[in-house]
Amino acid sequence: MSGKRIVLTSDSTMMSSYHGGVLLGFAATMPRAVMPDSIFKWLFCPPLPAGPDGSALLAPCGMRKVEASLLEAGFSRDEVMVAHPDHLHQAIGPETEVVGITHDDPMGKIAVREIEEMIGRGPPHNRTRFLELVNHPLIREHRPVVVVGGNGAWELKDEDVGVDHVFLGEGEADFPSLCRKISRGQDLPRVICGSMVPGEDIPVNRGPTIAGIVEIGRGCWRGCTFCSPTMRTLRHRPLSRILEDARTNLEAGQKDVLLHSEDVFTYGSPGKVPDREKVLELFLAVKALGPRTIDVSHLSLATVYQNQSLLREVSRAVGVGSDQKYMSAWVGIETGSCRILARHMPNKAKPEGTEKWPEMVRDCYALFSEESWLPVASLVLGLPGETAEDVVKTTELVESLKEHTGLMLPLFFTPMSETRLGGIRGFSRERALPEHWELVGTCLEYNLMHLKRLHSLYRERMTAGWSVQMALTGVNLLADRVLNKYLKRMKRGEPPN
Ligand code: SF4
Repeated sequence: MSGKRIVLTSDSTMMSSYHGGVLLGFAATMPRAVMPDSIFKWLFCPPLPAGPDGSALLAPCGMRKVEASLLEAGFSRDEVMVAHPDHLHQAIGPETEVVGITHDDPMGKIAVREIEEMIGRGPPHNRTRFLELVNHPLIREHRPVVVVGGNGAWELKDEDVGVDHVFLGEGEADFPSLCRKISRGQDLPRVICGSMVPGEDIPVNRGPTIAGIVEIGRGCWRGCTFCSPTMRTLRHRPLSRILEDARTNLEAGQKDVLLHSEDVFTYGSPGKVPDREKVLELFLAVKALGPRTIDVSHLSLATVYQNQSLLREVSRAVGVGSDQKYMSAWVGIETGSCRILARHMPNKAKPEGTEKWPEMVRDCYALFSEESWLPVASLVLGLPGETAEDVVKTTELVESLKEHTGLMLPLFFTPMSETRLGGIRGFSRERALPEHWELVGTCLEYNLMHLKRLHSLYRERMTAGWSVQMALTGVNLLADRVLNKYLKRMKRGEPPN
Protein backbone atom coordinates (compact mmCIF):
# COMPACT_ATOMS: atom_id res chain seq x y z
CA MET A 1 0.00 0.00 0.00
CA SER A 2 1.66 3.21 -1.17
CA GLY A 3 -0.48 5.53 0.95
CA LYS A 4 -2.34 8.74 0.19
CA ARG A 5 -0.25 11.84 -0.38
CA ILE A 6 -2.13 13.93 2.23
CA VAL A 7 -3.91 12.20 5.09
CA LEU A 8 -6.27 14.19 7.30
CA THR A 9 -7.23 12.54 10.54
CA SER A 10 -7.44 12.83 14.32
CA ASP A 11 -7.57 10.54 17.32
CA SER A 12 -10.60 8.56 18.46
CA THR A 13 -11.72 11.22 20.98
CA MET A 14 -12.21 13.67 18.09
CA MET A 15 -13.38 11.14 15.49
CA SER A 16 -16.49 9.83 17.23
CA SER A 17 -20.23 10.10 16.74
CA TYR A 18 -20.61 10.42 20.55
CA HIS A 19 -23.86 8.47 20.02
CA GLY A 20 -25.33 11.69 18.62
CA GLY A 21 -24.82 13.55 21.93
CA VAL A 22 -21.79 15.78 21.44
CA LEU A 23 -21.67 16.56 25.14
CA LEU A 24 -20.53 12.99 25.72
CA GLY A 25 -17.27 14.08 24.08
CA PHE A 26 -16.45 15.95 27.29
CA ALA A 27 -15.83 12.55 28.86
CA ALA A 28 -12.53 12.57 26.93
CA THR A 29 -11.25 14.98 29.58
CA MET A 30 -11.65 12.26 32.23
CA PRO A 31 -8.50 10.61 33.54
CA ARG A 32 -7.87 7.39 31.70
CA ALA A 33 -7.56 5.43 34.95
CA VAL A 34 -11.21 6.07 35.85
CA MET A 35 -12.59 3.36 33.56
CA PRO A 36 -11.22 0.75 31.16
CA ASP A 37 -10.60 2.02 27.62
CA SER A 38 -13.09 -0.40 26.09
CA ILE A 39 -15.95 0.80 28.32
CA PHE A 40 -14.99 4.43 27.78
CA LYS A 41 -15.10 3.89 24.02
CA TRP A 42 -18.39 1.99 24.11
CA LEU A 43 -20.14 4.52 26.34
CA PHE A 44 -18.76 7.90 25.34
CA CYS A 45 -16.63 7.90 22.19
CA PRO A 46 -17.78 5.09 19.88
CA PRO A 47 -15.82 5.00 16.61
CA LEU A 48 -17.22 6.64 13.50
CA PRO A 49 -18.33 4.45 10.62
CA ALA A 50 -15.53 3.74 8.14
CA GLY A 51 -15.71 3.32 4.38
CA PRO A 52 -14.30 0.19 2.69
CA ASP A 53 -11.22 2.26 1.73
CA GLY A 54 -10.54 3.22 5.37
CA SER A 55 -11.97 6.73 5.08
CA ALA A 56 -13.97 8.24 7.93
CA LEU A 57 -17.58 8.65 6.84
CA LEU A 58 -18.02 11.61 9.18
CA ALA A 59 -15.40 14.18 10.20
CA PRO A 60 -15.03 17.32 12.33
CA CYS A 61 -16.24 20.40 10.44
CA GLY A 62 -12.76 22.02 10.45
CA MET A 63 -11.25 18.90 8.84
CA ARG A 64 -13.95 18.94 6.15
CA LYS A 65 -13.10 22.58 5.38
CA VAL A 66 -9.39 21.74 4.98
CA GLU A 67 -10.28 18.74 2.80
CA ALA A 68 -12.44 20.98 0.58
CA SER A 69 -9.72 23.63 0.34
CA LEU A 70 -7.17 21.03 -0.80
CA LEU A 71 -9.53 19.75 -3.49
CA GLU A 72 -10.31 23.32 -4.60
CA ALA A 73 -6.58 24.06 -4.74
CA GLY A 74 -6.07 21.31 -7.30
CA PHE A 75 -5.14 18.22 -5.29
CA SER A 76 -7.01 15.22 -6.61
CA ARG A 77 -9.43 13.02 -4.69
CA ASP A 78 -6.88 10.27 -4.99
CA GLU A 79 -4.25 12.33 -3.19
CA VAL A 80 -6.34 13.54 -0.25
CA MET A 81 -8.04 11.33 2.30
CA VAL A 82 -9.99 11.94 5.50
CA ALA A 83 -8.83 8.79 7.24
CA HIS A 84 -10.44 6.82 10.02
CA PRO A 85 -8.01 6.55 12.96
CA ASP A 86 -8.62 2.79 13.22
CA HIS A 87 -7.82 2.29 9.53
CA LEU A 88 -4.61 4.24 9.07
CA HIS A 89 -3.03 1.16 7.48
CA GLN A 90 -5.27 1.94 4.48
CA ALA A 91 -4.14 5.57 4.36
CA ILE A 92 -0.52 6.03 5.46
CA GLY A 93 2.26 4.51 3.41
CA PRO A 94 5.66 5.31 1.88
CA GLU A 95 4.14 7.97 -0.43
CA THR A 96 2.35 9.85 2.32
CA GLU A 97 3.90 13.30 2.55
CA VAL A 98 1.67 15.03 5.08
CA VAL A 99 -0.47 13.86 7.99
CA GLY A 100 -2.73 16.76 8.99
CA ILE A 101 -4.30 16.33 12.42
CA THR A 102 -7.21 18.48 13.59
CA HIS A 103 -7.62 18.76 17.35
CA ASP A 104 -9.54 20.87 19.86
CA ASP A 105 -7.59 19.87 22.96
CA PRO A 106 -4.61 17.59 22.11
CA MET A 107 -2.80 17.96 25.42
CA GLY A 108 -5.92 18.26 27.58
CA LYS A 109 -5.13 21.86 28.49
CA ILE A 110 -8.51 23.50 27.85
CA ALA A 111 -11.62 21.60 28.62
CA VAL A 112 -12.55 21.02 32.24
CA ARG A 113 -8.89 20.70 33.25
CA GLU A 114 -9.97 20.68 36.89
CA ILE A 115 -11.41 17.17 36.44
CA GLU A 116 -7.86 15.87 36.01
CA GLU A 117 -6.73 17.84 39.05
CA MET A 118 -9.87 16.97 41.00
CA ILE A 119 -9.85 13.24 40.55
CA GLY A 120 -6.05 13.11 40.43
CA ARG A 121 -5.80 9.83 38.51
CA GLY A 122 -3.43 10.48 35.68
CA PRO A 123 -3.66 11.95 32.18
CA PRO A 124 -6.96 12.37 30.37
CA HIS A 125 -8.13 10.25 27.43
CA ASN A 126 -7.74 13.06 24.88
CA ARG A 127 -4.01 13.62 25.64
CA THR A 128 -3.32 9.88 25.75
CA ARG A 129 -5.07 9.22 22.45
CA PHE A 130 -3.43 12.16 20.72
CA LEU A 131 0.05 11.06 21.78
CA GLU A 132 -0.72 7.53 20.60
CA LEU A 133 -1.73 8.94 17.22
CA VAL A 134 1.40 11.04 16.65
CA ASN A 135 3.46 8.01 17.67
CA HIS A 136 1.52 5.63 15.44
CA PRO A 137 3.83 2.88 14.08
CA LEU A 138 3.03 3.89 10.46
CA ILE A 139 3.95 7.51 11.14
CA ARG A 140 7.20 6.33 12.74
CA GLU A 141 7.91 4.02 9.84
CA HIS A 142 7.14 6.30 6.89
CA ARG A 143 7.98 9.65 8.52
CA PRO A 144 5.42 11.89 6.82
CA VAL A 145 5.43 15.50 7.99
CA VAL A 146 2.96 15.84 10.87
CA VAL A 147 1.04 19.12 10.99
CA VAL A 148 -1.47 19.80 13.79
CA GLY A 149 -4.17 22.46 13.34
CA GLY A 150 -7.54 23.25 14.87
CA ASN A 151 -8.68 25.14 17.96
CA GLY A 152 -6.26 23.36 20.28
CA ALA A 153 -3.12 23.48 18.10
CA TRP A 154 -1.65 26.29 20.25
CA GLU A 155 -1.21 23.75 23.08
CA LEU A 156 1.65 22.18 21.11
CA LYS A 157 3.73 25.30 20.53
CA ASP A 158 6.15 24.44 23.31
CA GLU A 159 5.68 20.68 23.39
CA ASP A 160 8.17 18.22 21.94
CA VAL A 161 5.86 15.32 21.13
CA GLY A 162 6.69 14.44 17.53
CA VAL A 163 4.73 17.19 15.79
CA ASP A 164 6.64 18.87 12.93
CA HIS A 165 4.45 21.93 12.44
CA VAL A 166 1.84 23.66 14.55
CA PHE A 167 -0.69 25.40 12.32
CA LEU A 168 -2.48 28.29 14.05
CA GLY A 169 -5.49 30.13 12.67
CA GLU A 170 -7.59 29.29 9.65
CA GLY A 171 -6.38 26.55 7.32
CA GLU A 172 -8.26 26.99 4.04
CA ALA A 173 -6.11 29.73 2.50
CA ASP A 174 -2.65 28.45 3.44
CA PHE A 175 -2.74 24.72 4.19
CA PRO A 176 -2.77 23.69 0.50
CA SER A 177 0.32 25.81 -0.26
CA LEU A 178 1.98 24.49 2.91
CA CYS A 179 1.48 20.95 1.57
CA ARG A 180 3.10 21.92 -1.73
CA LYS A 181 6.08 23.45 0.10
CA ILE A 182 6.45 20.31 2.21
CA SER A 183 6.29 18.28 -0.98
CA ARG A 184 9.14 20.34 -2.45
CA GLY A 185 11.15 19.77 0.74
CA GLN A 186 11.21 23.47 1.60
CA ASP A 187 12.44 24.57 5.03
CA LEU A 188 9.49 25.87 7.03
CA PRO A 189 9.08 27.38 10.50
CA ARG A 190 7.69 25.05 13.16
CA VAL A 191 4.79 27.38 13.95
CA ILE A 192 2.78 28.58 10.95
CA CYS A 193 -0.07 31.09 11.05
CA GLY A 194 -2.90 30.72 8.55
CA SER A 195 -4.53 33.83 7.18
CA MET A 196 -8.16 34.79 7.46
CA VAL A 197 -10.60 33.59 4.81
CA PRO A 198 -13.44 35.89 3.67
CA GLY A 199 -16.89 34.50 4.59
CA GLU A 200 -17.85 33.89 0.96
CA ASP A 201 -14.65 31.88 0.37
CA ILE A 202 -15.12 29.44 3.26
CA PRO A 203 -15.46 26.29 1.15
CA VAL A 204 -18.44 24.00 0.88
CA ASN A 205 -17.86 20.64 2.55
CA ARG A 206 -17.27 17.55 0.43
CA GLY A 207 -18.57 15.18 3.06
CA PRO A 208 -20.75 15.10 6.19
CA THR A 209 -19.69 16.40 9.59
CA ILE A 210 -19.89 14.97 13.10
CA ALA A 211 -23.02 16.19 14.94
CA GLY A 212 -24.27 17.72 11.69
CA ILE A 213 -22.25 20.87 12.34
CA VAL A 214 -22.75 23.54 9.70
CA GLU A 215 -20.58 26.62 9.92
CA ILE A 216 -22.43 29.89 9.33
CA GLY A 217 -19.72 32.38 10.24
CA ARG A 218 -16.48 33.10 12.11
CA GLY A 219 -15.08 35.66 14.51
CA CYS A 220 -16.42 37.84 17.29
CA TRP A 221 -16.25 41.60 17.88
CA ARG A 222 -16.61 41.60 21.67
CA GLY A 223 -12.89 41.38 22.38
CA CYS A 224 -12.66 39.37 25.64
CA THR A 225 -9.03 39.25 26.73
CA PHE A 226 -8.76 35.46 27.11
CA CYS A 227 -10.59 34.37 23.99
CA SER A 228 -9.26 33.41 20.57
CA PRO A 229 -12.33 33.83 18.27
CA THR A 230 -12.15 37.48 19.23
CA MET A 231 -8.83 37.70 17.39
CA ARG A 232 -10.70 36.97 14.17
CA THR A 233 -12.81 39.50 12.28
CA LEU A 234 -16.51 38.75 12.23
CA ARG A 235 -17.81 37.45 8.90
CA HIS A 236 -20.62 35.21 7.68
CA ARG A 237 -21.11 32.76 4.85
CA PRO A 238 -23.71 33.19 2.11
CA LEU A 239 -26.95 31.34 2.84
CA SER A 240 -26.63 29.21 -0.32
CA ARG A 241 -23.30 27.73 0.87
CA ILE A 242 -24.65 27.10 4.37
CA LEU A 243 -27.56 25.21 2.86
CA GLU A 244 -25.21 23.18 0.66
CA ASP A 245 -23.35 22.03 3.76
CA ALA A 246 -26.61 21.20 5.55
CA ARG A 247 -27.79 19.24 2.51
CA THR A 248 -24.50 17.30 2.34
CA ASN A 249 -25.05 16.21 5.93
CA LEU A 250 -28.70 15.29 5.52
CA GLU A 251 -28.15 13.42 2.27
CA ALA A 252 -25.46 11.37 4.03
CA GLY A 253 -27.98 10.30 6.65
CA GLN A 254 -27.31 12.87 9.37
CA LYS A 255 -30.60 13.87 10.98
CA ASP A 256 -29.72 16.89 13.08
CA VAL A 257 -28.23 20.26 12.17
CA LEU A 258 -26.03 22.26 14.52
CA LEU A 259 -25.50 25.80 13.24
CA HIS A 260 -22.12 27.08 14.26
CA SER A 261 -20.71 30.57 14.84
CA GLU A 262 -19.72 32.51 17.94
CA ASP A 263 -23.11 34.26 18.04
CA VAL A 264 -25.68 32.72 15.72
CA PHE A 265 -28.16 35.60 16.15
CA THR A 266 -25.72 38.01 14.53
CA TYR A 267 -25.87 36.06 11.26
CA GLY A 268 -25.75 38.42 8.29
CA SER A 269 -25.11 41.57 10.36
CA PRO A 270 -21.92 43.41 11.34
CA GLY A 271 -22.50 41.99 14.84
CA LYS A 272 -23.91 44.68 17.11
CA VAL A 273 -27.54 44.65 15.99
CA PRO A 274 -29.00 41.41 14.60
CA ASP A 275 -30.58 41.42 11.16
CA ARG A 276 -33.84 39.74 12.16
CA GLU A 277 -34.88 39.00 8.61
CA LYS A 278 -31.62 37.26 7.76
CA VAL A 279 -31.63 35.25 10.98
CA LEU A 280 -35.19 34.06 10.41
CA GLU A 281 -34.51 33.39 6.74
CA LEU A 282 -31.56 31.21 7.81
CA PHE A 283 -33.58 29.15 10.29
CA LEU A 284 -36.58 28.79 7.97
CA ALA A 285 -34.39 27.72 5.05
CA VAL A 286 -32.58 25.11 7.17
CA LYS A 287 -35.89 23.92 8.59
CA ALA A 288 -37.26 23.51 5.05
CA LEU A 289 -34.54 20.92 4.38
CA GLY A 290 -36.31 18.68 6.89
CA PRO A 291 -33.81 17.97 9.67
CA ARG A 292 -35.07 16.18 12.78
CA THR A 293 -33.70 18.94 15.02
CA ILE A 294 -31.81 22.24 14.74
CA ASP A 295 -29.47 23.51 17.46
CA VAL A 296 -27.07 26.42 17.65
CA SER A 297 -23.51 26.16 18.85
CA HIS A 298 -23.01 29.58 20.45
CA LEU A 299 -25.11 32.55 21.39
CA SER A 300 -24.14 35.78 23.11
CA LEU A 301 -26.29 36.37 26.19
CA ALA A 302 -26.18 40.11 25.51
CA THR A 303 -27.66 39.56 22.03
CA VAL A 304 -30.36 37.30 23.47
CA TYR A 305 -31.15 39.85 26.21
CA GLN A 306 -31.60 42.63 23.63
CA ASN A 307 -33.57 40.46 21.20
CA GLN A 308 -35.87 38.29 23.26
CA SER A 309 -38.64 38.39 20.67
CA LEU A 310 -36.16 37.15 18.04
CA LEU A 311 -35.45 34.07 20.17
CA ARG A 312 -39.20 33.46 20.44
CA GLU A 313 -39.59 33.81 16.67
CA VAL A 314 -36.70 31.40 16.04
CA SER A 315 -38.36 28.94 18.44
CA ARG A 316 -41.59 29.13 16.42
CA ALA A 317 -39.74 28.79 13.09
CA VAL A 318 -37.86 25.71 14.30
CA GLY A 319 -40.82 24.21 16.15
CA VAL A 320 -39.16 24.03 19.57
CA GLY A 321 -41.59 22.33 21.94
CA SER A 322 -43.53 20.75 19.05
CA ASP A 323 -41.24 19.37 16.32
CA GLN A 324 -38.31 19.04 18.72
CA LYS A 325 -38.42 18.94 22.52
CA TYR A 326 -35.78 21.59 23.10
CA MET A 327 -33.02 23.55 21.43
CA SER A 328 -29.52 23.70 22.86
CA ALA A 329 -27.11 26.62 22.78
CA TRP A 330 -23.66 27.24 24.25
CA VAL A 331 -23.44 30.51 26.13
CA GLY A 332 -20.65 32.25 27.98
CA ILE A 333 -21.54 33.49 31.47
CA GLU A 334 -17.84 33.50 32.47
CA THR A 335 -18.32 35.47 35.71
CA GLY A 336 -20.90 36.93 38.06
CA SER A 337 -18.58 39.78 39.00
CA CYS A 338 -19.24 43.06 37.18
CA ARG A 339 -15.70 44.15 38.14
CA ILE A 340 -14.08 41.17 36.38
CA LEU A 341 -16.43 41.61 33.45
CA ALA A 342 -15.38 45.27 33.09
CA ARG A 343 -11.70 44.32 33.33
CA HIS A 344 -11.57 41.35 30.96
CA MET A 345 -14.81 41.48 28.94
CA PRO A 346 -15.74 45.16 28.66
CA ASN A 347 -17.93 44.56 25.59
CA LYS A 348 -19.60 41.37 26.79
CA ALA A 349 -22.82 43.05 28.00
CA LYS A 350 -23.02 45.73 25.28
CA PRO A 351 -25.12 47.70 24.51
CA GLU A 352 -25.87 47.45 28.27
CA GLY A 353 -23.26 48.41 30.84
CA THR A 354 -21.24 45.73 32.65
CA GLU A 355 -23.05 46.49 35.94
CA LYS A 356 -26.21 44.90 34.54
CA TRP A 357 -24.58 41.52 33.76
CA PRO A 358 -26.02 39.28 36.53
CA GLU A 359 -29.53 40.59 35.88
CA MET A 360 -29.10 40.00 32.14
CA VAL A 361 -27.95 36.43 32.69
CA ARG A 362 -30.92 35.72 34.95
CA ASP A 363 -33.40 37.21 32.45
CA CYS A 364 -31.92 35.14 29.62
CA TYR A 365 -32.16 31.97 31.69
CA ALA A 366 -35.82 32.68 32.47
CA LEU A 367 -36.42 33.11 28.72
CA PHE A 368 -34.53 29.90 27.91
CA SER A 369 -36.73 28.01 30.38
CA GLU A 370 -39.93 29.48 28.98
CA GLU A 371 -38.93 28.67 25.41
CA SER A 372 -37.44 25.20 26.13
CA TRP A 373 -33.90 26.22 25.23
CA LEU A 374 -31.11 24.37 26.99
CA PRO A 375 -28.09 26.53 27.82
CA VAL A 376 -24.67 24.94 28.23
CA ALA A 377 -22.71 27.68 29.95
CA SER A 378 -19.02 28.25 30.55
CA LEU A 379 -17.50 30.03 33.55
CA VAL A 380 -13.86 31.07 33.74
CA LEU A 381 -12.16 30.68 37.11
CA GLY A 382 -8.96 32.47 38.09
CA LEU A 383 -8.81 35.31 35.58
CA PRO A 384 -6.00 37.71 36.53
CA GLY A 385 -7.09 40.02 39.34
CA GLU A 386 -10.00 37.85 40.48
CA THR A 387 -10.57 38.08 44.25
CA ALA A 388 -12.55 35.93 46.67
CA GLU A 389 -15.33 38.51 46.52
CA ASP A 390 -15.56 38.18 42.72
CA VAL A 391 -15.80 34.40 42.99
CA VAL A 392 -18.57 34.64 45.59
CA LYS A 393 -20.55 36.81 43.15
CA THR A 394 -20.22 34.11 40.49
CA THR A 395 -21.35 31.44 42.96
CA GLU A 396 -24.36 33.59 43.91
CA LEU A 397 -25.24 33.95 40.23
CA VAL A 398 -25.06 30.18 39.65
CA GLU A 399 -27.19 29.60 42.77
CA SER A 400 -29.81 31.98 41.41
CA LEU A 401 -30.08 29.97 38.16
CA LYS A 402 -30.69 26.59 39.78
CA GLU A 403 -34.35 26.27 38.85
CA HIS A 404 -33.44 26.49 35.14
CA THR A 405 -32.27 23.32 33.39
CA GLY A 406 -28.84 23.48 31.81
CA LEU A 407 -25.23 22.57 32.22
CA MET A 408 -22.59 24.70 33.93
CA LEU A 409 -18.95 24.20 32.97
CA PRO A 410 -16.46 25.89 35.33
CA LEU A 411 -13.18 26.13 33.41
CA PHE A 412 -9.81 27.00 34.88
CA PHE A 413 -8.39 30.05 33.10
CA THR A 414 -5.85 28.78 30.55
CA PRO A 415 -3.82 31.36 28.63
CA MET A 416 -4.11 30.57 24.92
CA SER A 417 -1.06 31.77 23.06
CA GLU A 418 -3.01 33.65 20.38
CA THR A 419 -4.90 35.82 22.91
CA ARG A 420 -4.14 39.03 24.78
CA LEU A 421 -3.59 37.11 28.03
CA GLY A 422 -1.40 34.61 26.19
CA GLY A 423 1.76 35.31 28.19
CA ILE A 424 0.15 35.10 31.64
CA ARG A 425 0.34 32.16 34.02
CA GLY A 426 -2.77 29.99 34.00
CA PHE A 427 -4.96 29.08 36.93
CA SER A 428 -4.39 25.82 38.77
CA ARG A 429 -5.35 23.87 41.83
CA GLU A 430 -2.46 25.36 43.85
CA ARG A 431 -3.79 28.86 43.30
CA ALA A 432 -7.43 28.05 44.05
CA LEU A 433 -9.07 29.87 46.98
CA PRO A 434 -11.70 28.15 49.14
CA GLU A 435 -14.26 30.27 47.26
CA HIS A 436 -13.16 28.70 43.96
CA TRP A 437 -13.81 25.21 45.31
CA GLU A 438 -17.17 26.35 46.59
CA LEU A 439 -17.99 27.60 43.08
CA VAL A 440 -16.89 24.34 41.41
CA GLY A 441 -18.98 22.45 44.01
CA THR A 442 -22.00 24.66 43.27
CA CYS A 443 -21.65 24.01 39.52
CA LEU A 444 -21.35 20.29 40.15
CA GLU A 445 -24.48 20.42 42.30
CA TYR A 446 -26.29 22.31 39.52
CA ASN A 447 -25.22 19.74 36.94
CA LEU A 448 -26.13 16.73 39.05
CA MET A 449 -29.50 18.32 39.77
CA HIS A 450 -30.25 18.53 36.02
CA LEU A 451 -28.41 15.43 34.77
CA LYS A 452 -31.46 13.17 34.55
CA ARG A 453 -33.51 15.71 32.66
CA LEU A 454 -30.57 16.48 30.37
CA HIS A 455 -30.19 12.82 29.55
CA SER A 456 -33.90 12.43 28.80
CA LEU A 457 -33.84 15.52 26.55
CA TYR A 458 -30.65 14.42 24.80
CA ARG A 459 -32.22 11.07 23.92
CA GLU A 460 -34.07 12.89 21.16
CA ARG A 461 -30.81 13.19 19.22
CA MET A 462 -29.01 10.09 20.41
CA THR A 463 -28.37 7.08 18.24
CA ALA A 464 -27.35 4.78 21.08
CA GLY A 465 -29.21 1.52 21.61
CA TRP A 466 -30.94 0.52 24.83
CA SER A 467 -27.85 -1.05 26.39
CA VAL A 468 -25.81 2.16 26.11
CA GLN A 469 -28.80 4.23 27.27
CA MET A 470 -29.19 1.98 30.32
CA ALA A 471 -25.49 2.15 31.02
CA LEU A 472 -25.55 5.94 30.74
CA THR A 473 -28.45 6.04 33.20
CA GLY A 474 -26.27 3.90 35.47
CA VAL A 475 -23.36 6.30 34.99
CA ASN A 476 -25.68 9.18 35.96
CA LEU A 477 -26.63 7.42 39.18
CA LEU A 478 -23.03 6.50 39.88
CA ALA A 479 -21.85 10.04 39.14
CA ASP A 480 -24.41 11.27 41.62
CA ARG A 481 -23.00 9.00 44.34
CA VAL A 482 -19.29 9.33 43.57
CA LEU A 483 -19.27 13.04 42.84
CA ASN A 484 -21.40 13.86 45.86
CA LYS A 485 -18.38 13.04 48.00
CA TYR A 486 -16.29 15.67 46.16
CA LEU A 487 -19.21 18.06 46.03
CA LYS A 488 -19.65 18.17 49.81
CA ARG A 489 -15.97 18.89 50.38
CA MET A 490 -15.88 21.61 47.76
CA LYS A 491 -19.01 23.29 49.03
CA ARG A 492 -17.19 23.62 52.35
CA GLY A 493 -14.42 25.44 50.45
CA GLU A 494 -12.02 22.50 50.59
CA PRO A 495 -10.13 21.00 47.64
CA PRO A 496 -11.80 17.80 46.41
CA ASN A 497 -8.94 15.52 47.45
S1 SF4 B 1 -18.09 37.04 23.58
FE1 SF4 B 1 -17.40 34.90 23.57
S2 SF4 B 1 -16.55 34.53 21.53
FE2 SF4 B 1 -16.73 36.75 21.80
S3 SF4 B 1 -14.74 37.39 22.55
FE3 SF4 B 1 -16.00 37.05 24.35
S4 SF4 B 1 -15.64 34.91 24.98
FE4 SF4 B 1 -14.88 35.17 22.85
